[in-house]
Amino acid sequence: MDTAVRIKTKAPVPYTLTAIEPDTHDTKTFRFDLPPDATLDMLPGDFLYVHTTIDGKSIKRAYTPSSLPGSTGFFDLTVKRYESGVVSKYLHEQHIGDSVLMSGPNPGGHWVDGMATRVGFVAGGTGITPMISIIRWILMKQIDAELFLIFANKTETDIIRRHEWEQYLRDYPSFHCHHVLEQPPAGWAQGAGRVTPDVLRRHLPPPGPGTCVFLCGPPPMVDALEGTLRALGYPEETVILP
Ligand SMILES: Cc1cc2nc3c(=O)[nH]c(=O)nc-3n(C[C@H](O)[C@H](O)[C@H](O)COP(=O)(O)OP(=O)(O)OC[C@H]3O[C@@H](n4cnc5c(N)ncnc54)[C@H](O)[C@@H]3O)c2cc1C
Repeated sequence: MDTAVRIKTKAPVPYTLTAIEPDTHDTKTFRFDLPPDATLDMLPGDFLYVHTTIDGKSIKRAYTPSSLPGSTGFFDLTVKRYESGVVSKYLHEQHIGDSVLMSGPNPGGHWVDGMATRVGFVAGGTGITPMISIIRWILMKQIDAELFLIFANKTETDIIRRHEWEQYLRDYPSFHCHHVLEQPPAGWAQGAGRVTPDVLRRHLPPPGPGTCVFLCGPPPMVDALEGTLRALGYPEETVILP
């Protein structure tokens, strides 16, 4: 039985940074300490706010823990650094031992066990972060569901946690993954350009009972693909946004 104390706060509280793992050229995973026998009170896909003060102004941004709900001792945030981004740059400037203020977790577009048996994921860039936790959860808990990931990026070097997707392709016959690159390298055998209706038709489970689709990415991509998914016959309530 899970006896860990479940943490959820409205006010920001400090968490100590204990490890930093580089992923891509602009993305790192930051590991934060949890008190002994404590865990975040969240479902896979829920998010925390990171709070900071820049030039005397309090600001916060949402980040989805990529670690599994129920993890004790630590939790991870996978964060892309934007050159002109206030909070992502602040996080990338932190060092091991520093404290970062966070509140939450808050409910996002999350997975609930039993909600579907065929699960599509359409991610653009850091839109993959809620899906990391959801995909890990379904695979690690051996939940009876087939998973279909479409992951769109600019270049091959932007693919977050690529080794993890490749490992899942080797280890789990129920996991499928199709990459789409705006600027593919020579000889690239997967998708090129944008995520089109044809890509969705070929690489997602068809709409119907037991199917849901998580969609997360830059707002223009989400706006466009939400409409496309509706036109392809996925009912609104089966398309889950962050
Ligand atoms: C529910 C939710 C969960 C999220 N989880 C994560 C996560 O786990 N990891 C993560 O890295 N991000 C995540 N984000 C995005 C994150 O909250 C910030 O928006 C992002 O880090 C940029 O914040 P910033 O303060 O650095 O940039 P800002 O100062 O807000 O923006 C500066 C510039 O950065 C660029 N920019 C900002 N955000 C984006 C974007 N999403 N796509 C393209 N360009 C952008 C724009 O050019 C913008 O003008 C999540 C967002 C939401 C809503």
